[in-house]
Amino acid sequence: MLKGGQLAQGKIVEQFENNFAKFIGVKYACAVANGTAALHLALLSLGISKGDEVITTSFSFIATANAILYTGAKPVFVDVDEKTFNINPELIEEKITSKTKAILPVHLYGLPANMEQIMKIARKHNLLVVEDACQAHGAEINDKKAGSIGAAGCFSFYPTKNMTTGEGGMITTNSSTLAQKIRLLRNHGMRERYRHEEIGFNLRMTDIEAAIGLEQLKKLSLMNKKRASNALFLSKQLKNIEGILTPIVPQGIKHAWHQYTIRVTPSYKLTREKLIERLSAKKIGTAIYYAVPIHLQLAYKNLGYTDTLPVTEQISKEVLSIPVRPDLTVDQLKYIIDQF
Ligand SMILES: *Cc1c(COP(=O)(O)O)cnc(C)c1O
Repeated sequence: MLKGGQLAQGKIVEQFENNFAKFIGVKYACAVANGTAALHLALLSLGISKGDEVITTSFSFIATANAILYTGAKPVFVDVDEKTFNINPELIEEKITSKTKAILPVHLYGLPANMEQIMKIARKHNLLVVEDACQAHGAEINDKKAGSIGAAGCFSFYPTKNMTTGEGGMITTNSSTLAQKIRLLRNHGMRERYRHEEIGFNLRMTDIEAAIGLEQLKKLSLMNKKRASNALFLSKQLKNIEGILTPIVPQGIKHAWHQYTIRVTPSYKLTREKLIERLSAKKIGTAIYYAVPIHLQLAYKNLGYTDTLPVTEQISKEVLSIPVRPDLTVDQLKYIIDQF
């Protein structure tokens, strides 16, 4: 491959795109530099621009909302459901205005958002739906893969995700118009050599990344199965502990278990911080995704977000992600449980 000469956006990238499209069950997949670029280019290529509003969640990685801002549009935050941690469809319609163009749900921790409700609302109000599936490779909604339901699905291959290419991203879609537009914009608006039809970007994927991605994709389903069995084990042991709320999986949903995230509520014997200390003393790594919701980030201070999002703000104080990665052994899982 290295001797082939084309190390960026070459044959291996094309092969990775084809295999990924097949895996997700869509006609097209467009590889890009990272997940943030995937979101940015999907929104831009769908025509989202200045003056538009995009409804999304504040309980996500900041890239979700930043990608909306890059297009000039405004992220409008809707509170999440306290059980799924995903955007609450019941609260979407009250945030729709004449400026609303799209809904950007996030499949947080690998659990698909309520796409049935979201698509229903989108159809009723003529809105686009872009799925942030950056944490949901292989997750399913009634046998359809996350990322195959909206106008576009956006994936990240950052090293912490369920599959990686180092850095990398992918946009999945059934629209050839959209795929063509994305392919133009990721490569400086160039269709023919040095003829630039539009002001584009350099957001290409390299063939080295794609080569890693092809191998990772082969292993994804097995790795996700291991994550799922680890999650099942953790939930069985943790669900009867007073004050610990374990993750739920709604009917018809296949969770990708990017993270296994519990809520440490006030009725648990320790505070979340004390529990983290205890686990850390036993060399068990934990993380809080996300301690500060996007609308409360310093970077968003001057953007005029004054409304409170009560559920988002409450759960950001309670969530704790504990290990669920595929290589955990039963002994390691038991060791984790013992610390509770
Ligand atoms: C990782 C992630 C992104 C961004 O992906 P990068 O590859 O890091 O740019 C966007 N949204 C969510 C929900 C993510 O977890």
